[in-house]
Amino acid sequence: MWSLQTLEQITALSKLDTSFATFTAVGRIRRDLQQLGFEVTKRKGYSIKRDMLSGVLKQHVPTTMQWYSPVKHSTDINSVAIIGAGLAGAHLAYGLAKLGIKTHVFEEQDSCAQGGSGNDQGILYTRLSHEKLHLSEFSLAALLYSYRYYQALFNSGVLTEKDDGELKGSIQLAFNDKTKALHEKLKQRFSNDSLVNWLSGAEISKLVGIDIEHKGIYLRDSGWLNPQKICKKLLSQPNITLHTNTKISALNYASGWQLTGGPSTKFDAVVICNANGAQSYSQSTDLPLKSIRGQISYIPLADAVNRPKLPVCYEGYLPPPQNNQQCVGATFNLNDISSQLSTADHRTNLAQLQQYLPTYYNSIMHNNVAAEKLKGRASIRCATPDYTPIAGQLADRDKFIQQYIPLAKNAKRNISGAAPLLPNCYVSVGYGSRGLSYSPLCAQHIISLITNTPSPLSSKLVSATHPARFLLRDIIKGKVPIED
Ligand SMILES: Cc1cc2nc3c(=O)[nH]c(=O)nc-3n(C[C@H](O)[C@H](O)[C@H](O)COP(=O)(O)OP(=O)(O)OC[C@H]3O[C@@H](n4cnc5c(N)ncnc54)[C@H](O)[C@@H]3O)c2cc1C
Repeated sequence: MWSLQTLEQITALSKLDTSFATFTAVGRIRRDLQQLGFEVTKRKGYSIKRDMLSGVLKQHVPTTMQWYSPVKHSTDINSVAIIGAGLAGAHLAYGLAKLGIKTHVFEEQDSCAQGGSGNDQGILYTRLSHEKLHLSEFSLAALLYSYRYYQALFNSGVLTEKDDGELKGSIQLAFNDKTKALHEKLKQRFSNDSLVNWLSGAEISKLVGIDIEHKGIYLRDSGWLNPQKICKKLLSQPNITLHTNTKISALNYASGWQLTGGPSTKFDAVVICNANGAQSYSQSTDLPLKSIRGQISYIPLADAVNRPKLPVCYEGYLPPPQNNQQCVGATFNLNDISSQLSTADHRTNLAQLQQYLPTYYNSIMHNNVAAEKLKGRASIRCATPDYTPIAGQLADRDKFIQQYIPLAKNAKRNISGAAPLLPNCYVSVGYGSRGLSYSPLCAQHIISLITNTPSPLSSKLVSATHPARFLLRDIIKGKVPIED
């Protein structure tokens, strides 16, 4: 249990004078703790234990830190600027404000949640995996964390059930050979876990309330949410000032962060939460973000029609209808940045619904609703090459390259010292199609960095979401030129 890596992580998250006590008195652990900066005393142990260790952190010794280890800052953070008022910015602002930190959110549009977060229904879910990959571990952790987080917001009255969403689970259909095979494999990992239930088509039809022929899984900790209302409600809490119609075009550091396009005041910290817009700043221009356009369609419903009581996910998704209209989502067009509604995309949504839920399709399309007359909404997702979000402190690019360039010759070389990072400059972007579940966990991770407190992410997931992971990979692959 007490590996050097674990002790390093504990040390990185501890402030000076942090005390510890442990039953173990093993010499190797005592020496590791001493090397990491703890003053260690061997004391009489409890009960049958002869000896134990206790001690206090006297200094931070950065020599054994990993490139992704959080770097503690000595400044007090009293004011934070957040760029972007979508789910990323709203969750972060809310979390900081609750800690009493004054937070200013800058949004270029005339109100919050006008970009990817502007839909009025989205599914809180994830695609489970039987493999223990970084992405699947992160997305599962994010789902479990966010489910409890949203539940707390409903319980405390910040969100209102039905109006802002419902967390009663969701269905994922086994709609083709690939998903059927995946659902079978999931049994290896989740069969003893009440999070997932395997259901027949008849069982799903009964649960959802419409005829569905495919079998599938019921995912307990999920549901549907209204991203736009969530942003509005979170951003209207005390300690948050929302500056709309304010486009931030550059960031400059001089003993604090100054935002071009914003007020003349300096902020102790800045967090870039403006999705693909992050590439417009010199500090984050190299982040490999990609735009994926998506469109949802709304089908008007007749009163008599049976309606799905739970969200159903297939190639697209179908949340329970609101205001007598059925939302059908969503298209997926890589590198398309138009947010104009398209009839072709409406047809794609309708065709998927017809293919996978034909009985429901026929019951709501009986008046032959014309695709070109449908209402809907198109906006742009922001994704990363590994589909894992980018959340953390930004690297000081030139210094980072200088420090880690020896890895180009020997990727296993041990590089000592903390990674060079930009002072109190953070980023949280690249949620792809999972903004509802990724944003609360990413926000809490950034809050932990800002407040020098432990992150909810394991060190493996801190490295998997770290903004510098792409730069480090390029260095190792020899893609970053070595300067003489
Ligand atoms: C059609 C569609 C369906 C989706 N369905 C789901 C779903 O069912 N479940 C789910 O979990 N996720 C879903 N998503 C994904 C989810 O909506 C996104 O992951 C999430 O909204 C991203 O939030 P964000 O805050 O990172 O970005 P955004 O919501 O895009 O927010 C970024 C904000 O930054 C502002 N901004 C940009 N540049 C500047 C600047 N220079 N200065 C000031 N402000 C700036 C923008 O105006 C915008 O408001 C869907 C996305 C789409 C497009």
